[in-house]
Amino acid sequence: MKVILAQPRGFCAGVVRAVDTVEQALEQFGAPVYVRHEIVHNQHVVEDLRAKGARFVEDLNEVPANAVTIFSAHGVGKEVENNAHQRGLKVLDATCPLVTKVHNQGRQYAARGYQVILIGEPDHPEVIGTLGQIPSPVVVVQTEAQVATLEFSQDTPLAYITQTTLSVDDTHAVVDALKRRYPQIIGPDTRDICYAVQNRQTAVRELSQCVDVVLVIGSPQSANSVTLRDIAAETGIPSYLIADGSAVHSEWLNDQSTIGITAGASTPEAMVSDVLNALSRIAPLQIENLPGREEHVHFRLPDGLITRQ
Ligand code: SF4
Repeated sequence: MKVILAQPRGFCAGVVRAVDTVEQALEQFGAPVYVRHEIVHNQHVVEDLRAKGARFVEDLNEVPANAVTIFSAHGVGKEVENNAHQRGLKVLDATCPLVTKVHNQGRQYAARGYQVILIGEPDHPEVIGTLGQIPSPVVVVQTEAQVATLEFSQDTPLAYITQTTLSVDDTHAVVDALKRRYPQIIGPDTRDICYAVQNRQTAVRELSQCVDVVLVIGSPQSANSVTLRDIAAETGIPSYLIADGSAVHSEWLNDQSTIGITAGASTPEAMVSDVLNALSRIAPLQIENLPGREEHVHFRLPDGLITRQ
C-alpha cells in the first residue's frame, strides 16, 4: 500500500508555543497548573499534559487562589483577563500571537469608529475570545448567505477581521461578498490569515490530486483539521477525519489504494506514526513525502516563564 504524507502537516508554531508553555510551567512551578479550556483542540495533547499535572477548566472560578493559570492558544476575552487579575492568579498567556494580532486589528478598527464584522464560527472559542477583546458590538458572519442578511447602510464605516483557522477560499468568498455589498468596507490583507493554516490547506489540495483516499488526523473540535478534511472532500475523493490509528477502517482502503495523510495544526506527529502503524497492520507500506513549503516560524514563550532558548 502506497502512502503519501503531506508537507507541511501537524503542529504549527502557535501550538508548539502553547504546549511548551504548559510543559515549562509544570517544570518551573510544579503541578498542578491550570489551563483555561483545552490548550489546543487535540485530545491526545490534552491527555498527555493532564497526566503530567495540568488541570483543564472551562471557568476560572474552578482555579484556586494564587494558582498558575494558562490561557489556551485560542485566546480569551477581556472579562476573563480581568477576572484572573482580580483573583490574583499567576497568568501565562499562551494565546497564539496570530490570534492576538486579530484582537489588535479589531480593537484598532473599533477605536477608529468602524463597525467591525468578524468572519468566523460563532461558537468557536477563538471567536468568543475575539468578541470579548473588542469593546464595541461586533457582528459575526460565517457564510456568503449571511452577508446578504446584513442591514448596514452604504455609508456605515465597516471593517472586517477573520478567525485564523478558516478555509482560505471560503474566507475569500465571504470577503468578496462583503466588498460587493459594501464597497466601502476595509480589512486586513487576507494573506494575513494564519500562515500554517494556508500552508496545510495548499498541501492537502496538492495531496488530493495524487491519492485515492485522504486521512486527516485531528480532532473534530479542531476547526483547521475539519477544514482540511472538507478541502480534500471537495476534490471528490473519500476523505476521513480520524483522531488516531484506532479509527482507521480497513474497508476504506484496499491494497491497491494510494493513501494520502495529513494532520491538523494541533495534531502531534506521534499520531501520524500511530496511523502509519495501523495501516502497516493492513498491508506493507511504501511511504513517500510530498514536497511542500518549509516553515521556519517560531514564537517566543509568554512572559512569566524563564526562557531557555
Ligand atoms: Fe496560531 Fe495559526 Fe497555529 Fe492557530 S493555526 S495556533 S493561528 S499558528
